[in-house]
Amino acid sequence: MIRLTRAPDLLMAQHWVNLLQAAGIRCRLSGVYLQGGAGELPVDQCGPDIWLEDARDRQRALRIIDGREPVAGGAQHAWHCDRCDEWLEPQFAECWQCGRPRPVNGD
Ligand SMILES: [Zn+2]
Repeated sequence: MIRLTRAPDLLMAQHWVNLLQAAGIRCRLSGVYLQGGAGELPVDQCGPDIWLEDARDRQRALRIIDGREPVAGGAQHAWHCDRCDEWLEPQFAECWQCGRPRPVNGD
């Protein structure tokens, strides 16, 4: 487990967890129980923090919560540009070689 980042509030934290889980990234939320706890601890001491089970997901997870990687409904696999015959990583919304946008339906 690694700590990915701290969310500004619980609502955003839960939103991010939902996004990450939709993208197939295993993650957890910490600090949520302390948040309701009547201010004995300062908020910045208790999260909410996003944790990843697999550190290798870190870069992708950061892109997702920054909105730099679309996660809605699949297309999380490499795709093929039929204009220039290049294979692209799933995080690219368009071909970096010729600029063709990624097809909506995956390949
Ligand atoms: Zn291309």
